[in-house]
Amino acid sequence: MGTKERYESTAAEVARVCERVGRPASEVTLVAVSKTVGPDQVQEAIDGGATNFGENRPDQLVPKADQFTGATWHFIGNIQSRRIRDIVGRAALIHSLFEERHARKIDEVARERGIVQDVLVEVNVSGEESKSGLEPSQVRPMLEVLESLPNVRACGLMTMAPQGSMDVARSTFAGLRELRDQLKPDYPELTELSMGMSEDWAVAIEEGATIVRIGRAIFSETFA
Ligand SMILES: *Cc1c(COP(=O)(O)O)cnc(C)c1O
Repeated sequence: MGTKERYESTAAEVARVCERVGRPASEVTLVAVSKTVGPDQVQEAIDGGATNFGENRPDQLVPKADQFTGATWHFIGNIQSRRIRDIVGRAALIHSLFEERHARKIDEVARERGIVQDVLVEVNVSGEESKSGLEPSQVRPMLEVLESLPNVRACGLMTMAPQGSMDVARSTFAGLRELRDQLKPDYPELTELSMGMSEDWAVAIEEGATIVRIGRAIFSETFA
């Protein structure tokens, strides 16, 4: 199997899981995380039907997004202030925002460019020290800040589950959904839940993911 076939089979599996849990497949966006591959494999995924790609470094996002302008690009990595200019606008959605100073800088750049930048707030639901993101209790104050920034729009939440246990992954994803549900009355535009990667995306869809970010299952020859 090549990248095209792996993309096709992953997309078919995503649709199957959606059907099994009674959700329309159109409710879940499959983001192909192309961070480890070059343009040839991006093209192969496009040939397999991929429309959304994720990158975690500006150095990778910039050339790929500029080459494949027909695709929708997502920034899913660590944000650095000095690279925000490279991300804003190129990424249709920034998944990994959790610092107020970055929110202010994104707003400033988006305003200069006359756009509104869509973002997700990254939440460290599991409390694992190695994970980035806000503690759940810090999300509401962050949303208040975002509401005051006219050129940034918070459209949901993102998390990463600890590796190794599907039970822990499930409770992490359920925790993000519950947090979103608590915030929804005050922030009705929080529709997106970006959660689930190669190993745990099916569980994430069961728990309400609207965006899954899948890398190795699509781009690695050795992921089984
Ligand atoms: C790399 C990465 C992914 C994809 O991980 P895989 O295990 O390769 O599917 C998803 N989200 C983030 C934030 C990543 O950095």
